[in-house]
Amino acid sequence: MTFDYHEPTSVREAIELSARFGGDGRFLAGGTDLMVQIHRGRLNPRHVVSLQCVPGLDGIEVDGAVRLGARVTHRRLESAEAFQGALRGLAEGAEVVGGHQVRNVATVGGNIVNASPAADVVVVLLALDATLTCLGPAGERTVALDGFATAPGVTGLRPNELLTRASFPRLAPRSATVFLKAGRRRAMEISIACVAARVTLDDLERCQDVRIALGAVAPTAIRARAAERHLEARPLTDGLMRETGRIAAAECRPIGDVRASARYRALLVATLVPRALARCLERIKLGAP
Ligand SMILES: Cc1cc2nc3c(=O)[nH]c(=O)nc-3n(C[C@H](O)[C@H](O)[C@H](O)COP(=O)(O)OP(=O)(O)OC[C@H]3O[C@@H](n4cnc5c(N)ncnc54)[C@H](O)[C@@H]3O)c2cc1C
Repeated sequence: MTFDYHEPTSVREAIELSARFGGDGRFLAGGTDLMVQIHRGRLNPRHVVSLQCVPGLDGIEVDGAVRLGARVTHRRLESAEAFQGALRGLAEGAEVVGGHQVRNVATVGGNIVNASPAADVVVVLLALDATLTCLGPAGERTVALDGFATAPGVTGLRPNELLTRASFPRLAPRSATVFLKAGRRRAMEISIACVAARVTLDDLERCQDVRIALGAVAPTAIRARAAERHLEARPLTDGLMRETGRIAAAECRPIGDVRASARYRALLVATLVPRALARCLERIKLGAP
């Protein structure tokens, strides 16, 4: 396991290096996924291109939209003032990634590009309709996060492209977000199943806009679209939320593994979805996180 380590100091240089190394190169952000995969022999890049000294990738901008630089760490997400109100779900997703040491270095961009079906922050970003900005030798393009991961570890990122940021629209008034995760223990644990919900209510307390995203219950993080449709223009009653949980459970395609059986994962979805929706409702009513 040997590789040449490169430390570019601009986005342009990073992309040039990546273009030069082609399939032999890998970007390194926090390294919490990449280094594990290299140590386990799953990846064997000859060149590692660190993003550590590349400026312009670690901003959090909140104005008309929210923009998160690819190198923003989970620690920064969980502690940012901007994510303590209606966007609390984003901080909740970030604060359960690994432990403190992992969150201090692990990044949003790494979470997205690593494309684990259990990537916690990706699930929240899906519920926020996030788009991704990718920059490569051929220029910049914007793609939807939904559909970006096509299989575990596989994304639509083109060869030599750098993910520069994830963006999503600001929430309408009377909105809330929630992230819930089930694991075997409360810290340093990959999700057995996780759920992110985003709800906007109209003046008559009916669902105006809802997103439900699920993690660790399909080959990629997914939207539970039938469950979302079930809520359209209806008030969030206990019965409706429970029904929606069952619909979401029917939409997922979980596997059984050492962490949990497929059936248990589906049962978790049926339980976590109504819980997340109820918490959104509570937050909107309180008008506070
Ligand atoms: C002990 C431990 C516990 C963990 N627990 C969790 C958990 O609970 N939940 C969870 O979701 N994850 C967890 N993880 C996984 C990991 O921490 C996250 O996925 C993290 O966000 C990865 O970010 P990183 O910056 O470390 O990525 P890296 O390891 O640096 O990179 C990951 C992949 O993305 C590519 N990449 C990184 N940045 C870019 C970019 N800007 N453009 C293009 N490609 C890029 C790299 O080439 C690599 O292929 C855990 C990891 C460890 C070691």
